[in-house]
Amino acid sequence: MSHNDRIFVQNIGGTGSAGSPYHIPGLSSKFVSAGGTASGTCQVYGCGTSIAGGHHHTAHVRYVDGRRGGDWQLVRVCPKHNNRHNTEPMALKKGASVVSVNQVRGRK
Ligand SMILES: [Zn+2]
Repeated sequence: MSHNDRIFVQNIGGTGSAGSPYHIPGLSSKFVSAGGTASGTCQVYGCGTSIAGGHHHTAHVRYVDGRRGGDWQLVRVCPKHNNRHNTEPMALKKGASVVSVNQVRGRK
């Protein structure tokens, strides 16, 4: 695996609040049932923050490496990385669990 295989994403701000059109009720459990892992650690490369016990955020992100599709994705991260002020591209851990929003939206 070369470094080029690492997935880079950018957080999409303003998607989590209840008033947002992008808010998905029950997102966390839908993410897991759609195949996302309930990892106990933030999925951002180099971040070792524990997100076990409900300290996780399911962040809306988009790919920024230009080679992947433009569909919005979901990834499990810590509160620091799911922050509207965090607009820097983030590298994900190898094997990080990424699920498309389309796969999650509409689930019961
Ligand atoms: Zn993190």
